[in-house]
Amino acid sequence: MSSWTPASASGRGTSKPARWLRQREITLDGVALDRRLEGWYAAWGWLAFARPTLLAQVAVVLLGLAFFALELGRERYNPLRAGDSYLLGAALLWLLGGAATVVHELAHALAVKHARRGVYRAGVMLYFGMPTPFVDTSDIWMAGRRQRLAASFAGPWAELVLGATCAALACALPEGPLGAALFTWAFACLVQTAFQFFPLLELDGYYLLIDLLDQPRLRPRSLAYVRGPLWADLGRRLRTGERFTPEQHLLAWFGLGSAAASLLACVLAAVTWQHWLGPLFAEAWGLAAGAARAAGVAS
Ligand SMILES: [Zn+2]
Repeated sequence: MSSWTPASASGRGTSKPARWLRQREITLDGVALDRRLEGWYAAWGWLAFARPTLLAQVAVVLLGLAFFALELGRERYNPLRAGDSYLLGAALLWLLGGAATVVHELAHALAVKHARRGVYRAGVMLYFGMPTPFVDTSDIWMAGRRQRLAASFAGPWAELVLGATCAALACALPEGPLGAALFTWAFACLVQTAFQFFPLLELDGYYLLIDLLDQPRLRPRSLAYVRGPLWADLGRRLRTGERFTPEQHLLAWFGLGSAAASLLACVLAAVTWQHWLGPLFAEAWGLAAGAARAAGVAS
């Protein structure tokens, strides 16, 4: 779920390209957007929230995850490669991941309409330089806790249902490019869902957790606690045997967990670099060198 506000208008002290990377945003008109979503919800969106459909979604997810594991074990496809090319594989993964994000954001928007609240901003923004679809769901914060939870859950859940469906189709199809593309799409959906549900990153899973625990601003409060008061409290506990309160326990564990998650993300980035981005850049370099040689021969 995204409830980003446009980046600060001042932007002083940052270079022009950096400002462009952060602030560029194409937004749809608010009232027309809300009316369009209202129409979609009335025509077909409500179906996704009906009890029988929800049960069917759970069945699809369970079966789809089993099919994904099965297909992974068969080793017919590598989601990081398209044919023999890591470059094409990366482009396909990026495109299909983007399509999954559109479904994710649309699900958030429909959940807001299900709660009879408004969606007045959506579009594409540059997030760390990458075009990313977004929906402003901030109006849901005026709704009840259950509806807020449903709106946070809807995005990654929709992506999970999509990924599970793709995995089942890929598994059922004979080996070929369509099966490979479906498996890549399933992979993109499942990786994105895992990140979105992980509560130690500031994504949907985090918002689900703070609403479930009724602990607003848990992340900044925990990080501030771990950076300072925790160690004094720990010292006092060792000296006097004074017990931690449940609040102190939560702040300490969540703060330490968030710090560990950041470290883990760095390790994961290093492993990804080694196993995927390395061959990817080697391939790009080979192509560039080949093109330069061809240009040299031609001139
Ligand atoms: Zn989301």
